[in-house]
This record gives sequence, C-alpha cells and structure tokens, in this order.
Amino acid sequence: MENNLTLEDIQSFKGKYPKQLWYLFFSEMWERFCFYGMRGMLVIFMTTQLLMKEDVANLQYGATQAFVYAFTFIGGLFADKILGFRRSLFWGGILMIIGSCILAYDPKNLFFFGISFTIIGTGFFKPNISTMVGSLYKSDDTRRDAGFSLFYSGINIGALLGGYACIAIAQSYSWNLAFGLAAIVMLISLVTFVFTQRSLGSIGLKPTRISKEGEEKPQKSWVEYAVYIGSLAVIPLIMMMVSKTEYTDYFMFTIGPLTLIYIFYEMSKCTREERKKLFAALAFIFFSIVFWAFFEQSGGSLALFAENNLDHNLAGMKLNPNGVNNSANSLFVIIFAPILGILWIYMSKRKIEPNTIVKFGLGFLFLGLAFYTFYSTRFFADGNGITSLNMFTLAYFIITFGELCLSPIGLSIMTKLSTKSLQGVMMGMWFLASAYGQYVAGILGAEMATENATKQERLVAYTNGYLDLAIYAAIAGVIVIAISPLLKKLMGGVK
Ligand code: GLN
Repeated sequence: MENNLTLEDIQSFKGKYPKQLWYLFFSEMWERFCFYGMRGMLVIFMTTQLLMKEDVANLQYGATQAFVYAFTFIGGLFADKILGFRRSLFWGGILMIIGSCILAYDPKNLFFFGISFTIIGTGFFKPNISTMVGSLYKSDDTRRDAGFSLFYSGINIGALLGGYACIAIAQSYSWNLAFGLAAIVMLISLVTFVFTQRSLGSIGLKPTRISKEGEEKPQKSWVEYAVYIGSLAVIPLIMMMVSKTEYTDYFMFTIGPLTLIYIFYEMSKCTREERKKLFAALAFIFFSIVFWAFFEQSGGSLALFAENNLDHNLAGMKLNPNGVNNSANSLFVIIFAPILGILWIYMSKRKIEPNTIVKFGLGFLFLGLAFYTFYSTRFFADGNGITSLNMFTLAYFIITFGELCLSPIGLSIMTKLSTKSLQGVMMGMWFLASAYGQYVAGILGAEMATENATKQERLVAYTNGYLDLAIYAAIAGVIVIAISPLLKKLMGGVK
C-alpha cells in the first residue's frame, strides 16, 4: 500500500507532522550521533594519541569540520543531477560506516584515511536528508517550519548522546571501541532509512534527464557509477588536504567563488521570479556564515574558556564545565525546539507569526545577547579569574533560541526558495556557509587566544572578544530586520 503513495497523499497529511518525518528524524538522529561522537573525539585523540601539539590539533580539527560542510555542496549537487536524494544518502551512509570501521580497526595509523571517508560520506548524507524533509510539505504549508524544528530536535538528541557516549567510552575503555560504536550507530541510521524509505513514495528517487529527442529518460547508470568511483578516487586528495592545513586556506578561497559562479550560471536559466527567490536564499546563506562564525566558538574559544575560567557549580550540582560546554546547547535545543515549533503554529493560526526574515533577525539579536552574557561572566569572577558556570550556562540557554530562530528555519527556507532542480545544491550551499563559519570561527578564536597568560588575563582577553562579538551580532540583527522589506520583495509569496 505504502508503495503506491503519491506525493499528493504524502503532502496532504493530517495532524501536526507527516509520519515520514519521524522516519527521517531517526535516521538523522543516529547519523548525528556518529558525526558528533567523532567530532567530540577528534581533538582529544589527536593530542593524546597522535601526540600532536594543541594548536596543530585545533587547526586540523577546524580543517576537518570545514571540509565536512564544504562537501555537502558537492553531495547536494550530485543528488540533484544524478543520484537523487535517496541513493546519495545511502552512499553517504555506507562511506561513513566504512570510515568509522577503518578508525575502529587502527585509528592511529589510518586516522586521516578513515576521516576522509567520513568527510565525503557526510557530504552525501547530510544535505539530502534535510531536503527530503522539505519535500514532505506542499509549498504553502505553514506546518513546515514546525516540522524542521522537530527534525532539529532529532539532530540534537543524536548530538547529545553521541557527543557524550563516544568520548566516555574512548577514555574509559578503548578508542577502537568508541569508533566502532560510531560505525554501529551509523549502520542503525542506514537500516532505519532502508526499511522506511518506501513510505516516501516518489520523493528522492533518481532525477530524470531530457534525451536528445526531448523525452524524459532515467539517468544513465554509468553516470551513477562514475559518481561512486569518483568519490572514492578523491579520497587520497582529501587525505592530503586535511593533513596539511595550509591547503584548507586554498580550498576555502576557491570553493566559495566557484560555487557562486555555478549558482549564477544555474540562475541564468531560471525565470525572473525563480531568480529573485534564489537571490533571497543567497542573502540568507550569507548571513548564516556570520552566525556560525560566532556560534562555533563553542568548539574553540569557549571550550578553552570553560577549561580555564569556570567553577564547577551548576545550580548546586558539581559538573565538569567542559561537559556543560559540549552538551548544554543540545539539551536546550531538545527541550525548546518542540515548544518553539508549537509556538510558531499557534502564532501562525492567529496570523501573528513573525516571517522568516524577522526570525533570522531575532536569531542574531539572541546571539548578541548570549555573547553579552558570556562577556558579563567577568563581573562574577573571583580574584583568580574563575567565574560562574551558572552565567555561562545562561548564555548557552540564550544562544539556543538564536540557533532555533535561524538554523531549522534556514533549512526550511532553503527548500521553499529553491527551484525543484536546485533543491540539493541550495541545501548544500546552506551547509557550505557552515563550512565558512567554522573556518572563520577558528580565526576569531585564535585572535582571542593568549600565550602564557594568567587566568585573570585570559578572562579579560576572552570576555573582551565576546563583547565585540555581541556588538557585531546585534548590528547584524538590526541590518537583517532593516533590509527585510527588500528581502521580502525578492521572496515573492514565500514566508
Ligand atoms: N547543529 C546542526 C546540525 O548538526 C547545525 C549544524 C550547522 O549547520 N552548522 O545539523
């Protein structure tokens, strides 16, 4: 029965969420378990097992993250043109499992080899599952943002569990086992997808091509196999680029302009109305780079701040400040994403829901307020430069609302503003912005860093940096809201 579901059947679901959303929710949850589990182990593995210096490990880590998100553009492109979303996701999942198995087998000697598989795998998996969520909704369905909010909770449940479990297992038992766990969990993600994909009807199937005679034909199989082989063939290149971080700079300087040229070329083939919407999408993408550059301090400068300048007391509980730094945000997202989702539905029924641009603007204002709170931790410090974990966690609480006003909504708006044939590419562009964000975050964090400083001096240096970020975030928020009439025009009827 599910086999014969039409797009119309799927998109005319009753209730708050389509049931297919739950299936994608679980696949993505386990994928993020694997991804964030790995992410949480990288720097520690590099410094304690590969005996890299801290600054080298940090750069290496930044390069990996930037590459992961940069490859989502390529994954989205191949999904749109050749593989379709489902095959891309499947191939990505397989590569992630292989990567995790390689690391489980011999993490010390095969580190960059294994990591390169997971980089490419994530590129094929991550953007395409998000695009499929968008396909569950009709273009004017106001329940879409709430759906993405729920999906975003799944992301963070995976992130929280994986981020905690993998490093804990690595440190208490063995690194092999921890990487092995990532492989098993990724397998669960893939199996979930394989067994539930029938319910997606025609969503995500292979795209068709127009033959010389002008007929729609299935994509040729050799082209598909060429993508599989090509993605394996670039592994040595990726290994080389990730292991030498100076190549990351060249890569980041090239990939952005190239993708823009490509998008402009595609836009030249679109109608005027479609083009305007794509311009609006690019504006959102640009602002999201700024957002992630600030937000991603969490993996860099905020982790160092937590390590050196915080007490261990959270609302009377004794906790490790680094643990709080790694997990508070995910926990707040899990709790508040559904609540915010319900609030958006409630507001939209009463026709008072802020539009996407205003939500983006609010996202920046929350971001600014959060960094102002990180800055104000300096007023709670003792004479030795140790300050309040409570205030620090409050800042994470505030930043979470910023993230929820921007990140799930950004996913949703990409699926609304893209033409059908550019869905994957635009989602890839959205994540490419995260790659730039990660890259710039590292540079901003490095600027705040102090050598041989006392804790008191570190406190002053870091919180000064956070005050600057607070001011810039607030300015960005005001700019977004100020240009909202212009963006609204570009977006046509899309809200
Ligand atoms: N935390 C979200 C995720 O993992 C968003 C990441 C991002 O776009 N930078 O999907």
